[in-house]
Amino acid sequence: MSKQPALPAPVASDSTPDAGVALVGGHPVLDFANTVAWRLDPARIVDRIQGAAAWTTWALAAGLVTADQAAALLSAATTDAAPTTAATEELLNLRATLWPILDALVDDQEPPAEAWEMLRRALVLARQDAALPPAFPLRWQPATDHPAGLCHALALLTEDLLSGDTLDRVRRCAGPGCGWFFLDRSRSGTRRWCSSQDCGNRDRARRHYSRTRQHG
Ligand SMILES: [Zn+2]
Repeated sequence: MSKQPALPAPVASDSTPDAGVALVGGHPVLDFANTVAWRLDPARIVDRIQGAAAWTTWALAAGLVTADQAAALLSAATTDAAPTTAATEELLNLRATLWPILDALVDDQEPPAEAWEMLRRALVLARQDAALPPAFPLRWQPATDHPAGLCHALALLTEDLLSGDTLDRVRRCAGPGCGWFFLDRSRSGTRRWCSSQDCGNRDRARRHYSRTRQHG
């Protein structure tokens, strides 16, 4: 059994998106986009991941790197901070690129040209950096053992998501201001909330309140 990594504190079941980095997206790219909470509410928006070490911890929790890779990345960051700082910038750029693309997807719009071009460039870089093991099915294998690798891995996963057969299952939470994305794997395809405990609960409370007001 491999050594257990130091994971972030578990998110309580009654948490709000403010309470931690919950992995509710059902796909690493959507969880990546969801690392900002209350994305659509300028008064509450908060970036949950601050700094390279936090990104490494997140990547570990999201299953994108192994504990050994995470440890190597953290140690590389202390030896030579420059590549790690550049890679963190690259991650933030990719995330900011993904938001308008995913918003366009769920709103049934054309992808915005500028963001799409940024995504194209990210994909070119990611493929240049990735290995292509001689095996079927053909699959790029991102190198996640250096700082830029995480961004490249996420770019390649974005290609999977946006070209795969779950594309029409990508949703944005109906909670006002929430802005989180998720893959709707429900049989009916009618999931509305990032989490029934979070936005789903708030909606129930809101409706209960308005009913009470009407009848009170
Ligand atoms: Zn939500």
